[in-house]
Amino acid sequence: MNLTFIGAAEGVTGSSHLLEVNGKKILLDCGLYQGKRAESEERNRNFLFKATDIDVVVLSHAHTDHSGNLPQLVKNGFTGNIFCTQATRDLAAIMLQDSAFIQEKDAEFISKRNKKKNLPAVEPLYTIEDAQLALESFISLPYHKPLTISEGVELTFFDSGHILGSSTPTFTLKENGKTIRFAFTGDLGRPDTPIIRDPEPPPMPIHYLITESTYGNRLHKPKDEVEKVLSDILQRTVKRGGKILIPAFSVGRTQEMIYFFHKLKEKNLLLDLPIYIDSPLAIDATNIYRLHPECFDTEMRRQIAENDNPLKLENVIYVRTVAESKKLNELKSPCIILAGSGMAEGGRIRHHLANNISNPANTVLIVGYMAENTLGRRILEKEKTVNIFGEAHELNAEVVVMNNFSAHADRNELLSHIGKFDKKEMRKIFIVHGEDAATHGLQQGLTDLGFSGVEIPKRGQTFELV
Ligand SMILES: [Zn+2]
Repeated sequence: MNLTFIGAAEGVTGSSHLLEVNGKKILLDCGLYQGKRAESEERNRNFLFKATDIDVVVLSHAHTDHSGNLPQLVKNGFTGNIFCTQATRDLAAIMLQDSAFIQEKDAEFISKRNKKKNLPAVEPLYTIEDAQLALESFISLPYHKPLTISEGVELTFFDSGHILGSSTPTFTLKENGKTIRFAFTGDLGRPDTPIIRDPEPPPMPIHYLITESTYGNRLHKPKDEVEKVLSDILQRTVKRGGKILIPAFSVGRTQEMIYFFHKLKEKNLLLDLPIYIDSPLAIDATNIYRLHPECFDTEMRRQIAENDNPLKLENVIYVRTVAESKKLNELKSPCIILAGSGMAEGGRIRHHLANNISNPANTVLIVGYMAENTLGRRILEKEKTVNIFGEAHELNAEVVVMNNFSAHADRNELLSHIGKFDKKEMRKIFIVHGEDAATHGLQQGLTDLGFSGVEIPKRGQTFELV
């Protein structure tokens, strides 16, 4: 039995690991690598293996850095089954097609630019058709129900509490009379995240674990301040007659924000502000959330039973077409606008920022991670002028950064979660999905907890599971 690290080893994006049991190859995740353009192109187009050699794929959750290269795998000849939870399958259906749409548009844009320079046209990484073809291979499996997916390979999904449908795929592997239990945290969420359940460690002893480490060296702010801070922001902005603009990821963060606005509404603190959700992907994702009550936590189930679904907040106005989105520019009275993309690098939020950030009455509310060199990061750092669509705009709006939201466990939450695994049975822990300081920080923390054999694997490195 072998385990090879393909992606998100010594880095965060492009999650992918390869398990070999009884001569069969099982790929865990097939994510898109996101970095500098040339490197991303190279990594995403060329796998470290032959796509036709892969027998089965297991997908931890729908985020594109875990699922986004599946259409490429299928395009390159993979014909096996792709196993994931039911909600992940539904979210992947919208996210893979959306990702393909972006790939097609990007290739079109670059080809047009190349033409002017007499350079050849470029092909998209994959097309919407490739994404749809990949979806034909999905098989969804409920949480907690074991299924044999390959000879000697039994798979069970446990909840990882990260986004709707997210899982910790857990395996019982049998080869030559030996039994090994192996788990992959996937992306690990935080306890008490609204709507979804808390992360659950597999109840059986695990011999080998792959864990994420995004915040392996950092701590988040507590969630209990959220309602107070949000309410203050709304009051201040309304007093100035301004709008509140929120760049938000379509899956997860948007629904979480709707949930908190519902809480404010209950306490009469929403000031009857209309909330515009200006993102077709976020609208589709919210509908998918509604279809999967089996993923909800006790509080959310109770609210639905009492006919008080937080995802059906009456102040929310869904904006699907471009024409409707443009009309939001004409609004004169205070309102809340949530739009993608999460880091303001693309999507409709850029138009709203261009139209509104020079007005000191408005507020830009940052509720997510902003990577370096993104428009979101420049706003977060309160640069005096920012470029949007090639034009300079003065940044006069108030900028508020709320660090209370994260879909990833912080250092203490990671240590507390992994600390529940049986140390005597654990043979190795592999740390992936983190920058250098995070992986090393978590390695130290886990070693201090008493785990031995805590590794930070390199890309392409293989370990034998014995
Ligand atoms: Zn994720």
